[in-house]
Amino acid sequence: MTVIVVLGGTSMDLVAHVARAPGRGETVTGREFAAVPGGKGTGQAVAAARAGGEVVMIGAVGTDGYGPLLRAHLEQAGVDTGLLHTVPGPSGTAHIVVDDGGARSAVVVPGANGTVTGLGPGERAAIASAGLLLLQLELPAAAVTDAARAARSLGVRTVLTPSPVRPLPEGLLDAVGLLVPDEHEAAALTGFGDPHAAAQILLRQVPEVVVTLGARGCLYAARGEEPVLFPAPEATAAGTAGAGDAFVGTLAAALAEGRAVPESLASASAALCVRRPGASASLPRRGGTEAA
Ligand code: ATP
Repeated sequence: MTVIVVLGGTSMDLVAHVARAPGRGETVTGREFAAVPGGKGTGQAVAAARAGGEVVMIGAVGTDGYGPLLRAHLEQAGVDTGLLHTVPGPSGTAHIVVDDGGARSAVVVPGANGTVTGLGPGERAAIASAGLLLLQLELPAAAVTDAARAARSLGVRTVLTPSPVRPLPEGLLDAVGLLVPDEHEAAALTGFGDPHAAAQILLRQVPEVVVTLGARGCLYAARGEEPVLFPAPEATAAGTAGAGDAFVGTLAAALAEGRAVPESLASASAALCVRRPGASASLPRRGGTEAA
């Protein structure tokens, strides 16, 4: 099996449930609170490890109390944290408010994540010995682009989740093998709300695209081939937070095992995730033992 390297964000999600989100200058009383390890990099790394992947995490946590908790969360899932640096200052945090209508507002403070601006020799060596590199857009653009370029020059396949979506750094897509946007990200990147049309535009720059469609599953498109829709198994959407990370992590574990068409497996696994509320705590384990 080949190693999966994840370069991405690690942060503590501070989640408050409220009847109604506060307006500007307003204070409301919350009902429930939870601090849950999060960040897209960590979510993907944990999902890939739980799906049986051998995973190395590149990133940073702070010297605050969250740093050790975030590191322990990754290690408990079996992720190698030797390249998860501890830097002076706070860890990344996401201050999340979920209202009774299910709407989710967030303030993300990058903290330690913002210090990851490029690759050192250890990070380059890890990518050189990997079979797959997973990237998202939570870390500074320079680090993401640096890693994608290094992977391309080393012949390592890169999977990019363009989230949180923003204008992509020059040249980044040229170094990506598989792009996995959700339908909103695909629309934002291309100007086309129709996932088929968006995928065709994106295929001009990357050889393979998977547009995730929530409960509708995902659309797989490859250059020169007919796009294929993979429906998601029916699931009770108790809370879809983390579905995207579970999907990509599980997809990566299947790719690292050398599977050519892993989308159905990844879709099925991600669907397990949305049966239970929460974020990374609800990521699936291999064999679906937590699926009930
Ligand atoms: P998030 O940002 O909430 O983590 P996302 O927008 O990145 O998610 P989605 O497209 O919502 O990603 O979901 C990713 C995959 O998870 C889908 O392709 C599908 O396989 C599965 N999935 C998501 N929501 C559901 C659902 N309600 N029922 C079944 N499967 C789902």
